[in-house]
Amino acid sequence: MKDKNFDELKITGLRINYLHVCKRKLWLFDRGIRMEHTSNMVLLGSLLQDYYYQRKERKNILIDNLIQIDIIDNESIREVKYSNKLKEADEAQLLYYLYYLKRLGVSKKGILNYPKIKRREELILTEELEKEVEKDLEEAKKVLSLNKPPKVEKKTFCSKCAYFEFCWS
Ligand code: SF4
Repeated sequence: MKDKNFDELKITGLRINYLHVCKRKLWLFDRGIRMEHTSNMVLLGSLLQDYYYQRKERKNILIDNLIQIDIIDNESIREVKYSNKLKEADEAQLLYYLYYLKRLGVSKKGILNYPKIKRREELILTEELEKEVEKDLEEAKKVLSLNKPPKVEKKTFCSKCAYFEFCWS
């Protein structure tokens, strides 16, 4: 992907995460439609990060006012999540961060941390995975340019989603 295209497509990591959770959720969130507990999982992840990783100095690094990385050290970047129920979305978000950093000339490995369940997963950005990130960026652009939100689609986690009432009542 050329730099110009990337500059036009780049979005926040949370939006990449939502793309994988539910395209409708991504669209609603992007339009500023927020329900009360929309960011509870984000908040819980942040509290866990403070609790379990007090000695890590470089935390919550904001890059280009766009992506916020939970923890950075010499070798890796880490994302701290409350639960692994949406692991695929967490992976996509972390791979996007690795991709973003690579474009800035920084190569690191990624670590997903789920301290509550004592799990950790390492991710390395391969050429194949870079293509996946680029596909995500294109797809997110398509969703965000829709005039109306994508249709409701029943998902197993709908009942736990902040937009449940909005979508299903
Ligand atoms: S309630 Fe279900 S369909 Fe609606 S935004 Fe959430 S996950 Fe998507």
